[in-house]
Amino acid sequence: MKFARDFKESLASQGFPPHWVEQAVPYRQLKKCLKKVQRELQDLGLDPDTLRSLTDPENKSPVALKYRLHSSADSKLVRPALTVHVKDGVVVDASLTPATRRFFENLAIELAANRRRSLGDTPGGRDENGADPAPIQLTGPDAIQLPFDKDGYETIEVPLEFDNQFFEMLQSDVNNIDALQADEQKNMAKEISALRDEISLVSKPSRFSKTDLALWRHIFELYLDAEVFFATGEQNHGERTSQAALTQLQWFQSEVEKRRLARDFRLRESHSALDRFLKLNASLLKNLQFQELNRLAVLKILKKFDKRTSLGISKTFRTFVQSRKLMAGSIGKDVCAQLSQELVPVVPQLNDYLCPVCFAIAYRPVRLACQHVFCIRCIVKIQRRQEKHCPLCRSDAVLKASADNLDIALGRYMKKYFRKEVKEKQRANDIERGIEDYGPTYTHKECVVM
Ligand SMILES: [Zn+2]
Ligand SMILES: [Zn+2]
Repeated sequence: MKFARDFKESLASQGFPPHWVEQAVPYRQLKKCLKKVQRELQDLGLDPDTLRSLTDPENKSPVALKYRLHSSADSKLVRPALTVHVKDGVVVDASLTPATRRFFENLAIELAANRRRSLGDTPGGRDENGADPAPIQLTGPDAIQLPFDKDGYETIEVPLEFDNQFFEMLQSDVNNIDALQADEQKNMAKEISALRDEISLVSKPSRFSKTDLALWRHIFELYLDAEVFFATGEQNHGERTSQAALTQLQWFQSEVEKRRLARDFRLRESHSALDRFLKLNASLLKNLQFQELNRLAVLKILKKFDKRTSLGISKTFRTFVQSRKLMAGSIGKDVCAQLSQELVPVVPQLNDYLCPVCFAIAYRPVRLACQHVFCIRCIVKIQRRQEKHCPLCRSDAVLKASADNLDIALGRYMKKYFRKEVKEKQRANDIERGIEDYGPTYTHKECVVM
């Protein structure tokens, strides 16, 4: 009872769009249907205890029940099937409840009828498929006889109307939410592309006109540090809960404010771009909250199903249900991947251009044969020490490097996007060289062009 109420309240209070709420898992309806499933099974003499003992794989009695979900790729539906496997000559145990005894008595009659039918006593008497789920008793024409299996067991499928209905409802709800989330993802993908264009305009490197490159770099650096939706730390690795994501997003926003980054924007368009970026993140967060809530509803109802029927389905449902969004939780992964591959790299981060030896920008980058990139100063120093191995991969590449290994295009790119850092690096190199040439008393004088 409690969850049904909490679920309804959460749906109403978390600010989801009305058309989402309409598509939410109808928990109450599923619960009602579950009651009917329970009654349906009980009418057959299959109370939870009996079901538990008969579906136990260790059960050695001549009667066994199997409950399985089947899924087909084309119909996008999952179908449950309860089958009875009986060896010839069942002895009905006197300790069974009257209802369960009745189940077996009916079963025996049904088996006999099946056998007669298969011998040809009643030609055309079989109503195969059992498509019409109306009658519940096993003796009805809906009981399907399957062929003997290899162990000499006879197998009968027990037609269960409400059980079918339950899973049909559940699967179609999952399908609806999947479709909804696929739509949302498409919208967010479009928004990311639009934002990419907008942010690359306002953060275009320029010496002469206004640009917000440095501010956007700072903003994205904070955003990457926040790891809003995915954590990479040792302890809490992987996808964050929506609650944790919210905390991270709030941290990011407060840092942007604290550092007055938006206030320092020089271009008006940067404000609207930041606004859009924040909205995009909020929208992904909403999607994750909705997904989390509905997934919880599905898991809760399946747990309830197991408790009331002992059919042990909650563990296998995940593998049978065909859900690329809700149950797979892929929306967060996909949108974040697009964010980090398409949007964030619009503003290159210094971290990606550091020399792994001196940790300053790898200006005048030397690309060794192994493809690792270092600043020219560090390579020269390693060569002077006659060390031949790349500090990163130990391949024999350092002494073979020459002026041909200078990556001119990369150098130009660094100069364009990291003007300040490149200047600092050049200055540091000049001082270092001066000390090498003139000794430690060398004082650096800036070169002034008159
Ligand atoms: Zn270096
Ligand atoms: Zn290397």
